[in-house]
Amino acid sequence: MNEKELGLGTRAIHAGRVDPRIEGAAVMPIFQCSVYEHTVEGTDYHDVRYPRLSNLPNHTALARKLAALEGAEDALVTASGMAAISTTLLQVLGTGGHLLIQDQLYGGTHAFVTHDLPSLGHQYDFISPDDAASWPAKLRPNTRAVYVETMTNPLLKVADHRAVVAFAREHSLVSIIDNTFATPVNFQPIEVGFDLSLHSCTKYMNGHTDLVAGAVIGSTENVQGIRHRLGHLGGCLDPHACFLLDRGLKTLVLRVERQNANAMALAGCLAEHRRSAA
Ligand SMILES: *Cc1c(COP(=O)(O)O)cnc(C)c1O
Repeated sequence: MNEKELGLGTRAIHAGRVDPRIEGAAVMPIFQCSVYEHTVEGTDYHDVRYPRLSNLPNHTALARKLAALEGAEDALVTASGMAAISTTLLQVLGTGGHLLIQDQLYGGTHAFVTHDLPSLGHQYDFISPDDAASWPAKLRPNTRAVYVETMTNPLLKVADHRAVVAFAREHSLVSIIDNTFATPVNFQPIEVGFDLSLHSCTKYMNGHTDLVAGAVIGSTENVQGIRHRLGHLGGCLDPHACFLLDRGLKTLVLRVERQNANAMALAGCLAEHRRSAA
């Protein structure tokens, strides 16, 4: 199966599944097991199969699906959106790093950046997302990454995404985008050139309001470093939540397309309304 040739809706159902299927099961079984035989010789800690290292069959199948949905090399599922965001930022900032970040953000991310990063020895500056000319003046020798949201939660501000990618490339920064609100149905960050796409899978990705989870999507090199960091910080997703998220993702495209259509109909109705301000 060449997944790149499949439509997004088909990938949401079939991508990443193990082949041959386990005991013929059409659905990935839940590996509710914390200890595994060690079969690989002479490998390091991160090759031992253990839930916290995010390398159980449920993690890897789900990661392959998430990577396929955004046309990326690799992905990682995490215990929450904030686990994806905090672990990624701590990894890319290294020691005493400086972050450029959009001036409107999801509240949890804003709190992490303004409270936690400085207490851990990192620095940040806010950037105005639609004023690329003002960004170079904010660069410092230790600037390591630039971070935006596809459209901000909750005010739906949209940055100039192509300018963010070009700026990051020019100054060798890691470009990071929180694609939670758009989902891969409405925006494909890796295709536009972002290095890392992050999600709170608690929202549209799962879609059923019955779990909390996150994702990091990007190149194998970037995701591997974040996976190792996550193994130390501990924000892994449990296998049962992996199963639920995998099931929720199967209807992602159907749900988001309908949500788009409903929102458009509502906007049209309000625009025409006799009491509309315009
Ligand atoms: C909800 C949300 C998060 C945080 O995700 P959790 O799964 O609650 O940790 C991050 N970014 C955006 C845009 C969100 O809407």
